[in-house]
This record gives sequence, structure tokens and C-alpha cells, in this order.
Amino acid sequence: MQNLPTYDDVVAAADRINGHAHKTPVLTSRTVNEDLQAEVFFKCENLQRMGAFKFRGAFNALSRFDAEQRKAGVVAFSSGNHAQAIALSAKLLGIPATIVMPHDAPAAKVAATKGYGGKVVIYDRYTQDREQIGRELAEKEGLTLIPPYDHPDVLAGQGTAAKELFEEVGPLDYLFVPLGGGGLLSGCALATRALAPDCKLYGVEPEAGNDGQRSFKSGSIVHIDTPKTIADGAQTQHLGEVTFPIIRRDVTDILTASDSELIDCMSFLASRMKIVVEPTGCLGLAAARQLKEQVQGKRVGVLISGGNIDMSRFAALLQS
Ligand SMILES: *Cc1c(COP(=O)(O)O)cnc(C)c1O
Repeated sequence: MQNLPTYDDVVAAADRINGHAHKTPVLTSRTVNEDLQAEVFFKCENLQRMGAFKFRGAFNALSRFDAEQRKAGVVAFSSGNHAQAIALSAKLLGIPATIVMPHDAPAAKVAATKGYGGKVVIYDRYTQDREQIGRELAEKEGLTLIPPYDHPDVLAGQGTAAKELFEEVGPLDYLFVPLGGGGLLSGCALATRALAPDCKLYGVEPEAGNDGQRSFKSGSIVHIDTPKTIADGAQTQHLGEVTFPIIRRDVTDILTASDSELIDCMSFLASRMKIVVEPTGCLGLAAARQLKEQVQGKRVGVLISGGNIDMSRFAALLQS
């Protein structure tokens, strides 16, 4: 097997993004603590630059380009947040960026990507293979493809979120992390095993697409059709070749949450904690609520992964 990234790579990523990414705040809520009878710490990556943790991995990966790669540019395929992360990081580092996005990507995400100066190429999420389109562009124009999760530099960057959390609040008994393709979870797993080895670490994915859970149980990567869920940041079809072995080794288990649980959490986070969180960003809290009995009396981390959602959609979901 390939050499998997280690916690040293997370530490190196933290140095590279230092001064460029925000050290996001850790929020607490008396109401949540009372509800769960636990001490809960929310790591708020919805308040990260461009509104999600993905800036960490993107900036780390682009920082490692050599002169030739910087000149030719980067290509990325993404349902949204990775696109914005690559576009913003590329702009900050003076690298041209091409982004392959689905036809139904949220308008705010497309607009933000263009706003950061990225060139956007649209494809049909249900009939075309974005990975193939990305690879063809990479070959034809000499661009370097940075995938949204299955890349050592990307996942090492994402792991800096958990590193910061543990450094700020100390060891935890539980940590709940949203799961799509597993860049965030695998990176956070490296940091967790280094900084809080006894912490129970859960990945949380949408119920409609539980490929991660099935992969974790069976020991090989399960592929599914694009799941229909409001959690658009986790509409992935499979875990990665690099992320999966780390997840299998270091993660305690994979849980799922339904769309209606996510809406409840979104509503709670907005009304009680005054923060805007996109549906995917609510996966961790939904799972912590499910494990109410286990987490009682414990120190619990919840990673809020992002906050990018059109306000009209946000309002519509809260009324649904
Ligand atoms: C991308 C994303 C995820 C999933 O991250 P992976 O690294 O693909 O597992 C979760 N939440 C948000 C907000 C995202 O943008």
C-alpha cells in the first residue's frame, strides 16, 4: 500500500496555512450542554474564509505547487465549497484556476467561485462524470488537478481544524465530524489519534448516501449513485483511496443523519446560537443528539463544517 499521510503532514499544513486561514472560534451553548447533559464544543468552520473548512486543504495543496504548476494553473471539480476554496486560494497565490461544477450547484456557490476569479465549467451531475471531465482538462491544458478529498495535501490541510480544536480545548471524549469523501474525517483522524488518542471519533454522513458506513463495515470502498439529500456538501459517491484506509484504521464508527434531523439542527443553530450553518455542516450535531445517552457527562467536540447556503434556500428549508 501507498504511504499514508501522518500527523506530521497535518503539522506541516498548519504552518503553511498559518496567517492565511482563520483560526476559527470554538463556541459553546448552555442550552446544548443542558440538553445533552454534556460539555459540548463547536468548532465553527462555517466562520472559516469562504465559509467552510475546505480553504485549509486547498490552500495547503496549492502552496506546494512548483513554479511550472503555478504558471499552468489548477483545475478542480466540486459541488461548491471545494471550488470556492480552490478559487480563493489560487487567487491569493496568483495561480489561474478552472472549476468544474454541477448544473444544479447552489447559485451562491457558483457566483462566489466566479467572484474569486475562477473560470467555471458546468456539467450535469446525474449524467456526466466530473472526475473524467476534470482529468481531461488537466491533460489537455497541463493543469494540475486537485480533487476535493482524495489527496494527501488536501486531507492534511483539513486535519488542521481538529488540531486547532484539541489545542484550544484539550482532550475530548467524543468528536463528531461530517463525512462526504472523507478528506475532513481522515485529516481530523490523524490529529485526533496524535492529540487525544482515547477520543471516540465518529464520521457522520447523510442517511440517503451511507456508502461510508457500508465501506467502513465491509472493509472495501462501496460506490453508490449520487444521493438525493439536502446535504449537498456530502453528496459523494464513494470514499477515497487515501482517505478510506485512514478512516478504517482511526475512526470509531460511521453514523448517519436524515434530512429532517439536519433541518432541526440548522434551525436550532440559527435561533439559539445565532450562526448560519449549511445542511451538511449540521451532520455532527445531529449525530451527537442521537448518542445522547453515551455522551452524557462527557466532553464532546462537534465540527461545524460550513455555512454556505443561499438565504432563500435557508428560509425555505426552515419552513419545510
Ligand atoms: C466538503 C464538505 C464536507 C465533506 O467533506 P469530505 O472531506 O468530502 O468528507 C462536509 N461539510 C461541508 C460543508 C463540506 O463543504
